[in-house]
Amino acid sequence: EKYYQADFAPDKEKTKTHPCFSGCASGSARIHLPVAKKCNIQCNYCLRKFDCPNESRPGVTTRVLSPEEALEKYLVAKKSVPNLKVVGIAGPGDALADFEFTEKTLRLIRAQDPDVTFCISTNGLMLPLYAKEFSRLGITHVTVTINALDPAIGSLIYKTVTYMGTTYRGEAAAAILLANQLSGLRMLQELGIVCKVNIVMLKGINDEHIPEVVNKVKELGCFITNIMQMIPVTGSAFEHMPLTSNKEIMAMRKKCGQILNQMYHCKQCRADAVGTLEHDLSLEFEKLATPRLE
Ligand code: SF4
Ligand code: SF4
Repeated sequence: EKYYQADFAPDKEKTKTHPCFSGCASGSARIHLPVAKKCNIQCNYCLRKFDCPNESRPGVTTRVLSPEEALEKYLVAKKSVPNLKVVGIAGPGDALADFEFTEKTLRLIRAQDPDVTFCISTNGLMLPLYAKEFSRLGITHVTVTINALDPAIGSLIYKTVTYMGTTYRGEAAAAILLANQLSGLRMLQELGIVCKVNIVMLKGINDEHIPEVVNKVKELGCFITNIMQMIPVTGSAFEHMPLTSNKEIMAMRKKCGQILNQMYHCKQCRADAVGTLEHDLSLEFEKLATPRLE
């Protein structure tokens, strides 16, 4: 099977045109293809929904696509969305929980398009298992969400972690996730893959701890961190948690900006987002380009 690049070389040009890794690439568009249905952990702030056209946040998509449908959608987008530079797999579950869907989607697209940037977003649990595959698939950009370095803090954030067929809870769950996130990041660094770490700022849980996370991921070669607000979701365990204000988020970003590059322009996009970060076309595009589903 033909892969994009047998040996990956870090690609500065692709970073310059990725709207989430470079503040200067605001004119570039990206498409998220929602092929990753399952998740292997349960964060207390998440409730995945697959049929919610009116909400905008990670984990939301109008529908989950098969790899073939995703290819069809991408080919329509390529013709109709100006300056489309990036294909991302960002849910609605985890891109690596059922890697075969992510992998097949990217292979199908690469066979038609040798240039578009491939980007995936993951909780990092399965990174050590799949990181080496990323280079062969031509994935140049990866986002890992790491909310805590201390399993005691992690145990307040993650309800369960299902790893190699066993479901863990409490600190054991958080410790397994953390070990894989950190060793996964190290592997990505060795492969020359550009990494962003997302951190969800949770009041009274990890807010004081965030600079420590940023320092650690910097040491492991991470390029940029994205400190994000939690979006309260009805029905999730954190539904009633006090919110971090914009002001508090900006202050934390500024503080951590002394350690590492910060993303100040994240839009917390849907898993089926299309367009530039400023102008999301996902709903209009859905009507135009919905692949034929059975
Ligand atoms: Fe939801 Fe993502 Fe957490 Fe999975 S890793 S539970 S999809 S927020
Ligand atoms: Fe970029 Fe943030 Fe949207 Fe992800 S959620 S595509 S990082 S703007």
